[in-house]
Amino acid sequence: MNWTCPHCQNPQIASAENQQSDTIYLGIVENGHEGCGFEYTALRCLNNQCGEITFGISLGDWVSGDILGMQSGGLGELRLWQGSIYPFGTAKPQPDYIPPVIAEDYYEACKIKELSPKAAATLARRCLQGMIRDFAGISKGRLIDEIKALNAAIKDGSADRSISEESVAAIDAVRSIGNIGAHMEKDVNHIIAVDAGEVTVLLELIEQLFEDWYGARDSRQKRRARVTKIASDKKSAKPSAAKADQ
Ligand SMILES: [Zn+2]
Repeated sequence: MNWTCPHCQNPQIASAENQQSDTIYLGIVENGHEGCGFEYTALRCLNNQCGEITFGISLGDWVSGDILGMQSGGLGELRLWQGSIYPFGTAKPQPDYIPPVIAEDYYEACKIKELSPKAAATLARRCLQGMIRDFAGISKGRLIDEIKALNAAIKDGSADRSISEESVAAIDAVRSIGNIGAHMEKDVNHIIAVDAGEVTVLLELIEQLFEDWYGARDSRQKRRARVTKIASDKKSAKPSAAKADQ
């Protein structure tokens, strides 16, 4: 089975060596009912640098079966719970160049998305506003005004080079979605009723902006530092040539 470790994002193949799973029937229901059961899957990451355990569980209705005369069964369509227990939620690990307060809002929003979409949406909107303030240096009371100012900054060329028209178009696309979009004009502390699906769209936008804004700026800075280092190494390696340059 192909899978990607949620701790280190390393894609890999799971085998009997690093994967264990089982389906278990819970015999605690009245006679005549099919009852319920659960499945678990535990995986160990094969990346030596990581080695973390990932553990997920599904709890649901039980469907009895019969395979070659052997009593068997498995989980049916109805799932009471499904998801990763460890790590909890769907957050992607973020690099150090994302400001910790912004990354923290993102991680916590991912953790509580299923349990409380309202709280997750509030954190996610605050995270988005935090990025516009920190990265683009635009600070207004309402998110909608900040997005407008961001658009204007791109048009007049005063925005950071990493803020592309595509990334603002992506923010605009999310604005058109359900309750989150309808409340973009409100202060981020205004709590809105949303479902987990709407929050997922907002969190995916945030992940994309982490990469497009902070990630692109970081690669540019690293590239510039490499070029500067090569230039200074060359100068110190050839003192006569360096002199001739001057
Ligand atoms: Zn890993």
